[in-house]
Amino acid sequence: MVQSEPLVIRVAVPSPLRRLFDYLIPDYIDENQAEHQLQPGCRVTVPFGRREVTGLIIETARHSEFELSKLKPISRLIDAEPLLPSSLFKMFIWAANYYQQPIGDALFTTLPVLLRKGELPPQSGQPGWKLSTMGLGLGLESLNQARKQRALIELIQDQGPELGESIILETFSRSIIKQLERKALIEPVIIEPTAGPAENLLRHDHLPLYSSQQIAMDAIQSHGFNSYLLDGVTGSGKTEVYLQSIEKILRYGRQALVLIPEISLTPQTEKRFRDRFNVPMVTLHSGLTDKQRLAAWMQAKTGEASIILGTRSAIFTPLKSPGLIILDEEHDQSYKQQKGFRYSARDLAVVRAQQEGIPIVLGSATPSLESLNNCASGRYQHLILSTRAGDAVQPDWHMVDLKSERVESGIAASTLAAIGATIKNQQQVLVFLNRRGYAPALLCHQCGWTAECKQCDSRLTVHRARGRLICHHCDYQERIPQQCPSCQGHQLIAAGEGTQRSEAYLQQCFPDTKVLRVDRDSTRRKGAMQEVFDTADSGEPCILIGTQMLAKGHHFANVTLVAILDADSGLFSPDFRGHERTGQLLTQVAGRSGRGKVRGRVFIQTHQPDHPLLELLMDKGYGHFATQLIAQRQFSQLPPFRHMAVIRAEAERANDAENFLRLVRQLAENISSPSPDMSYLGPLPAMLEKRAGRFRYVLQVEAEQRPALQALLSQLAPQLENHKDARRVRWSIDVDPQER
Ligand code: ADP
Ligand code: ZN
Ligand code: ZN
Repeated sequence: MVQSEPLVIRVAVPSPLRRLFDYLIPDYIDENQAEHQLQPGCRVTVPFGRREVTGLIIETARHSEFELSKLKPISRLIDAEPLLPSSLFKMFIWAANYYQQPIGDALFTTLPVLLRKGELPPQSGQPGWKLSTMGLGLGLESLNQARKQRALIELIQDQGPELGESIILETFSRSIIKQLERKALIEPVIIEPTAGPAENLLRHDHLPLYSSQQIAMDAIQSHGFNSYLLDGVTGSGKTEVYLQSIEKILRYGRQALVLIPEISLTPQTEKRFRDRFNVPMVTLHSGLTDKQRLAAWMQAKTGEASIILGTRSAIFTPLKSPGLIILDEEHDQSYKQQKGFRYSARDLAVVRAQQEGIPIVLGSATPSLESLNNCASGRYQHLILSTRAGDAVQPDWHMVDLKSERVESGIAASTLAAIGATIKNQQQVLVFLNRRGYAPALLCHQCGWTAECKQCDSRLTVHRARGRLICHHCDYQERIPQQCPSCQGHQLIAAGEGTQRSEAYLQQCFPDTKVLRVDRDSTRRKGAMQEVFDTADSGEPCILIGTQMLAKGHHFANVTLVAILDADSGLFSPDFRGHERTGQLLTQVAGRSGRGKVRGRVFIQTHQPDHPLLELLMDKGYGHFATQLIAQRQFSQLPPFRHMAVIRAEAERANDAENFLRLVRQLAENISSPSPDMSYLGPLPAMLEKRAGRFRYVLQVEAEQRPALQALLSQLAPQLENHKDARRVRWSIDVDPQER
């Protein structure tokens, strides 16, 4: 007789190793019960090295690569049932594979902290009672001698099948319950909270829709997986469409998951949801305590909360009965996590909607080229909201030619004059610095010449520390020239240089006007953002100055002038997404202004006022601009027409990082030799070559087919993990990178 192999439990633990760890069943769990109890998705405590850690069961098996005698038993089973619904559990596994993230890390960095620590989820639900099988079959006359018991049975029959204990105790004493329990006529249950009643869903009636909103609404199916791109300029009524689509699924008792880029910037959004619906809603934001976060997570999981609003990581929230996913500002970069588990919440949201079999609505005034292309290929349905007639007029664009003006601290004379005039008119100004994430091109302040690669037609990037210009497409390099080769001028600058002092300069020019700064650092302080909003809403003349954050969400009704100090760093960025980002930013920033009664003006400072793409954007709008860019991407075989991954390495010594990536390239080429189907570029210095004392390099891999890229990376990652040279660097794999 063949003895069956013992059951092996494969567990994910929080560790950077891309593998599962095998354990045996603990003594106190019966062999026959083991598979039933040790379900995938349950947490366990396991010995790991010299520690005990919390892990999560991924699967069970009847074999192990390791000798059984070397395996240790699980110390403790924490959960009686899986922590995550199976659809979400599957999405985790998919995401870990797709993004080449160790599954344990992926799981444990996204779970609420208290669950990572092994705490039990708070008991949701209320104690209650239901009739047992015997109770159901009971003839009531048999209880004629016990009137109260009979009355209780009748009450449960009437209002059941389950009845909360607290309701029972309003009329009956606990001893009556006990008596029926002893007769085995009723049995205890935990009544899971359910979403609010389908009546009285709305606090306020919804608005009658405009025709284009109505067309979009009619197109959005409430059942089954479908992806929609809701494409409409700021103020065209997207949010109203979200609200009414949510209303539909709430009526079926389902939940809506709503993702937005940044909650602190858009308190109005949250308020609009809360004002509209009379249902429990939770908001997942960074200000929650661990306890609050876990509570919110549980309310989503049990179905107690009907609407779950959150940022990027909310995509990992379990849902009892999902009905719809909304993802606003889908083009926003903040949906991509840039460190650790480098997932794209937008892409995962589509995967999740598919796994849950529910619709997803992606919305934006400036959709990403990926999503627009998905519409073109028929994968998404494109719903366009045309602007309301007579309202939301396009702003009035002004090109400021930096070559022909006096510029001080990054601000041209004509821009300064316009700011002065606006403030004098008691209106507000928004000054936009385009700083983050762009590598500077070298340009001539006198004639607008830019340094281009001699080998390919892209712009070279300034690497001041090395005194070199580098092409981030082919690795061509040259020394930074002293003189402009075109006009022999000596004012060669890196795009964007010179705006560092703009804020101080503006304050100096307008000493009696409030100058408020809005950026990552200044808004981290509690209440700082509120102060900005309050000032803006008060309507008093002021100057708001800041970065990308100003382009998001908030409607500044009293801003009538927007000044973009530096369009060039985006236009000349060597990043293939540079143009797309610039178009989105300019459109979004422009959309912040003139939402009141006065038509807004937008001043764009550039050395190339007749850049064809800028002209296209101004004349024809973002849609045409994007179509043109998509054609260019297709022509140059760049994403979304080709699939990309970047392997990064950083080290204190530049050589270590570069050498490691050289090795990585070799290993990769051994797996899949270079061909038109799989190409390699690098190692190259990262755009921002040195950060926090470490040198950063990248190796780029591009593939014709996504599965081929996935196959390569899945073979490569474990090799790197085990390589001795990997210890000298910090390395990571970034699939579908948003930046290099
Ligand atoms: P978006 O989300 O595209 O920026 P909103 O949904 O916020 O647009 O709509 C902009 C403004 O127009 C809001 O003040 C909103 O209340 C109003 N609005 C939207 N749809 C309607 C409608 N059907 N009827 C009346 N007002 C509407
Ligand atoms: Zn080049
Ligand atoms: Zn020149």
